[in-house]
Amino acid sequence: MVALQEIQPHKTQPVKVGTVIIGGGAPVVVQSMTNTDTADVRATFAQVKELFQAGSEIVRVTVNNDEAAKGVAELRNLLEKEGLDVPLAGCFHYNGHTLLTKYPDMAQALDKYRINPGNVGFGAKRDKQFEVMIECAIKYKKAVRIGINWGSLDQDLSTKLMDENAALPDPQSADSVMREALVQSALVNAEKAINIGLSKDSIILSAKVSRVQDLIAVYRELARRSDFALHLGLTEAGMGTRGIVATAIGEGVLLQEGIGDTIRASLTPEPNASRVLEVKVCQQILQTMGLRSFAPQVSACPGCGRTTSTYFQTLAGKIQTYLDTQMPLWKVKYPGVEGMNVAVMGCIVNGPGESKHADIGISLPGTGESPVAPVFIDGKKAHTLRGEHIAEEFQQIMDDYIKNRYSASGRKNRAA
Ligand code: SF4
Repeated sequence: MVALQEIQPHKTQPVKVGTVIIGGGAPVVVQSMTNTDTADVRATFAQVKELFQAGSEIVRVTVNNDEAAKGVAELRNLLEKEGLDVPLAGCFHYNGHTLLTKYPDMAQALDKYRINPGNVGFGAKRDKQFEVMIECAIKYKKAVRIGINWGSLDQDLSTKLMDENAALPDPQSADSVMREALVQSALVNAEKAINIGLSKDSIILSAKVSRVQDLIAVYRELARRSDFALHLGLTEAGMGTRGIVATAIGEGVLLQEGIGDTIRASLTPEPNASRVLEVKVCQQILQTMGLRSFAPQVSACPGCGRTTSTYFQTLAGKIQTYLDTQMPLWKVKYPGVEGMNVAVMGCIVNGPGESKHADIGISLPGTGESPVAPVFIDGKKAHTLRGEHIAEEFQQIMDDYIKNRYSASGRKNRAA
């Protein structure tokens, strides 16, 4: 028998970001980023709200100029007025030192500063400007993500490592040196921040790349060489299935190794499409891996020549949509329902078996089968549906099951 590989968590320092804890064994946190102009406070507020309500536990906004910096405090006020306690991260490049000192309300309104050491400044100014930003984080008691990016890697460090490598009798590949430069840049800058006075439990590290194998190699190394909380993300993951698959594989492999305390899916949305997809992808990664539960899951077979129509696919889709739309209410009313599994299967081959493994499942009749649909509850056949209203009847049975199992009175009855 093949033994399952247990996930051994990479032990990290816990970091408080607003109301959320990243690392230290806390559940892996889902985060996202807006793509509105932060200076457009109304539009940014609407997107932050949408992302937060979809399940993003931290939302990052760019703070790129004076107008954006002024907008952050206003954004926080709007969120507070609506009772939305959203942990906000601010993304700084080039002028973060100026903005953080010039706009104390903004520095206070954010919960975390994302600092990219490759974009802090140039030459002699770089260290000073980095220091100013870290001092602001210390002053306002904020977390910092030291976020290295392949596309803006510290050129001095990578040139130094390239030169040292070239002088070796058996030099490594350029890619391997670049990966080492990413790791070193993250660790060296974290050390610098600590020397300035930032506590270790205020630091999160990331080293984003756009290729899955690089991502895995870099984060394995970061985890091996430090106990900083780690933010996972494949940068420029891309559009559509390419972005989703690459993100899921890169982050999934690392999460399986216990590496990663917070994740983001950097997907390129279709023009004018909602950003919520990146939140859903992160939730799916975590739920699929059994690390967290966000909403009941519907397992459906792919269908084949044995299915008589698209009826069961339609039913599976309908049920998943129904479950998703009910979740905001059910989360409060029926705690635990997010871990429920529903099976919708197309024929007798795997239908009853899969349905028995689910909390509740239905096996629809395939070609040539008797036109009945057995419903299984907690592994036992509980009903047989037939006729034109199978979908409605199954939904009703599912509603009753949820009420009986997850409501306060239902839980009491089951325990008795
Ligand atoms: S359960 Fe039946 S309909 Fe679904 S894929 Fe398997 S054989 Fe085909």
